[in-house]
Amino acid sequence: MKLSSLGEFGLIDFIQKLAARQSPSVMIGIGDDAAALKIATSSILLATTDMLLEDVHFDLSFTDYYSLGWKSAAVNLSDIAAMGGIPRFCLTSLGIPSSVSVEQIKDFYRGFSAVLRIHRVVLVGGDTCLSREKLVVNVVVLGESKKIQIIARTGAEPGDGIFVTGTLGDSAAGLDLLRTRANSRKQGPWEKKLTEKHLRPTPRVEWGIKIARSRCAHAMIDTSDGLSSDLAHICEKSGVGAQIYPEDLPCSRALHLAEDRLGKSPTQYALSGGEDYELLFTAPPRYREKLKTLGVPLSEIGEITRSKKLLLVDRSGIKRPLVPNGYDHFARS
Ligand code: ADP
Ligand code: MG
Repeated sequence: MKLSSLGEFGLIDFIQKLAARQSPSVMIGIGDDAAALKIATSSILLATTDMLLEDVHFDLSFTDYYSLGWKSAAVNLSDIAAMGGIPRFCLTSLGIPSSVSVEQIKDFYRGFSAVLRIHRVVLVGGDTCLSREKLVVNVVVLGESKKIQIIARTGAEPGDGIFVTGTLGDSAAGLDLLRTRANSRKQGPWEKKLTEKHLRPTPRVEWGIKIARSRCAHAMIDTSDGLSSDLAHICEKSGVGAQIYPEDLPCSRALHLAEDRLGKSPTQYALSGGEDYELLFTAPPRYREKLKTLGVPLSEIGEITRSKKLLLVDRSGIKRPLVPNGYDHFARS
């Protein structure tokens, strides 16, 4: 069905029904000029927004609409997770070309809502426009946290260990597989793991909350641009440097299996591959044992240093500069 036969308000109606499972905190949701939301007076309000542009952030030749919706929600929740906060509400603005069908937009919202449901986040508003050419998605997420539990990028101290959740590099390898799929055979289980991580990342909301409640972490960020770049952001904001032990980087079995096919090592993917949406944080070594009790899969991959350099230090002690080479939107413009 064409969007013109449903109309803007027909679409908003569908979205409103999908978001109808309101929480008692929503005084007024979709359908008025603005949403009215209750938050605890003892909380700090966290606000974040991220835009996803067709052919910049996603390629519709290998991204289905359900995955696009899923990812649009996930990357935004990930920013709240990176502060150690609890995501509560969200708003979505879409610029939709006339070539997109009603079914495709509904699929987008089904994927989007699936992530919101898992994390009990309520969709409370947005905007819908016709776009002349490409699909544009913008999402706002509001979250909350206790003041003492907020983890900024600014608090890393020399001597802190550097920790990361989950595994690194899978998403970038998944993207390479998707891009080269045209001349490849059917996907095996390990390929599927990598492409899924790219198309439907899991925002580490619960892990972020656990890390924040433990009060172990000094600084935190989510890995969206790639480890080297995201670590550089923490170091710059905190006025410190870091050394990373490449042998300790957590790489999945799937990433190792992909090495022959993609011709790039797991370490290369782990250092510079973006969009894993894991949590990267620093914490004093005395909390090492406490961190192990949180039930969060963690790897310690390096140390914060007083010298402001970023270095790779291998087991034999050889040091090399670690160059931040993650994604920069304007670097190539
Ligand atoms: P206004 O003209 O006041 O901006 P709209 O007609 O754009 O109102 O929106 C009506 C209601 O529908 C508002 O509550 C708005 O937040 C919501 N809304 C519009 N588009 C979307 C969307 N894509 N996703 C979620 N809510 C939406
Ligand atoms: Mg509007």
